[in-house]
Amino acid sequence: MPLQSINPATGETRETFEEISAEDVRKAIEEANAAWKDWRRRGIAERAHMMRKAADILREGARDYGRLMSEEMGKPIAQAVAEAEKCAWCCDYYADNAGMFLAPEIVETGHRKSLVTFKPLGVILAVMPWNFPFWQAFRFAAPSLMAGNAAVLKHASNVPACALATEDVFRKAGFPENLFRTLLIGSGAVDEVIEDPLVRAVTLTGSGAAGRAVASKAGGALKKTVLELGGSDGYLVLEDADIAFAAETAAKGRLINSGQSCIAAKRFIVHESVRAAFEEAFVEEMRKAKMGDPLSEDTTIGPMARRDLRDALHRQVEDSLAKGANCLLGGSVPEGPGAYYPPTVLSGVKPGMPAYDEEMFGPVAAVISVADEAEAVKVANDTVFGLGGGIFTRDLERGERLAREAVEAGSVFVNATVQSHPKLPFGGIKESGYGRELSHYGIKEFVNIKTVVVS
Ligand code: NAP
Repeated sequence: MPLQSINPATGETRETFEEISAEDVRKAIEEANAAWKDWRRRGIAERAHMMRKAADILREGARDYGRLMSEEMGKPIAQAVAEAEKCAWCCDYYADNAGMFLAPEIVETGHRKSLVTFKPLGVILAVMPWNFPFWQAFRFAAPSLMAGNAAVLKHASNVPACALATEDVFRKAGFPENLFRTLLIGSGAVDEVIEDPLVRAVTLTGSGAAGRAVASKAGGALKKTVLELGGSDGYLVLEDADIAFAAETAAKGRLINSGQSCIAAKRFIVHESVRAAFEEAFVEEMRKAKMGDPLSEDTTIGPMARRDLRDALHRQVEDSLAKGANCLLGGSVPEGPGAYYPPTVLSGVKPGMPAYDEEMFGPVAAVISVADEAEAVKVANDTVFGLGGGIFTRDLERGERLAREAVEAGSVFVNATVQSHPKLPFGGIKESGYGRELSHYGIKEFVNIKTVVVS
């Protein structure tokens, strides 16, 4: 099957790429492994020099890379340029800190010398999604390459041009030829990559279904996996919240990346005493979003990445309405060729409705009413996911207590929406996956934590 780069704003095919053959996949892995044998011996300073160069290339080319993302998956251009710049930040962060993170640790044990060292594993397979086509790839690649690994990237089938551009950044930055390779393959060819004895570990960001398939295969081959999967982040809007601020922040959090973010705020769990005020303010904020051409600077919500994804989202909305939810805003498919879906607010959302039980991967917010804090926490945790969560309250001690002790998720933000930051670990629990990316935790996922004792 050819991989098609389709502009979701127009439905036009930008470019078509042939999938590479199994033989070429095997060759790319062998070449990456050969590059790794030299790379693993290079010092951190030399690796960091190249990683900083990659950061420069990303910053200098941010507008072009941004345009590519916008054209290939519909992200508003301002957000796309910011994504390329964030990738540069991540590259710089690991260039600056990898040496410290991977420094051998001396441990007192009674032996003459005991130490822990962090050694690269080899070729790591990254299976990545389309929603942050640069960020997902770079937040894996920057720490992995700095740790001395090589990488092969199987990107989502609808972003082949972004996948090739990512490979090109590392080439232009002077990394050894073949150290980072993009494999233009569909998901059906991933099993063979996992089976390849030269591939040492796998990271996947994507849906639960993809995570299960890849983790099963990797488990059978006894290869480590890191999984960053879906989320249905619940945001508590407590009775003491600043409602205007909560509504504005909630709308931004829901609409980031046109609603297609794993850590987007998806369910708003609102104390009944402030529900009417929140709904009114939130609908106004959601209505302010400017939907349109992703290449326009003032667009805040572009098309969804593919028409089939838009149609699936609309079915979830219709099903929720049929089961008794109320539509306060949006909820209908606009005419025209693009994969657009309007900002949508559903109220009166209850268990049994897709808007309560499932991840809504688009600009649709679910408002759930609760009687008190205990019920709010119960609803927040009443999901198979555990990626992120938020709490709006004026009482910061209360917010921190709930964040630390009550909400079951990999990240909980008080009076803010969940965002990834190179210095903070990122990942989920429950069906949102396992393992962590970013920070010093992320760089240690794909290393041999090796004990050395001299007696
Ligand atoms: P997806 O359909 O699961 O695809 C993700 C990647 O997995 C793509 O490269 C895809 O390839 C591949 N894939 C799919 N099925 C596979 C299989 N059976 N075997 C091997 N590879 C397979 O997800 P998506 O629609 O691109 O992304 C949306 C999902 O990702 C949402 O659930 C979102 O929450 C999640 N996500 C999570 C995070 C996080 O950090 N936790 C970040 C972003 C997104 P093809 O494109 O060729 O099918």
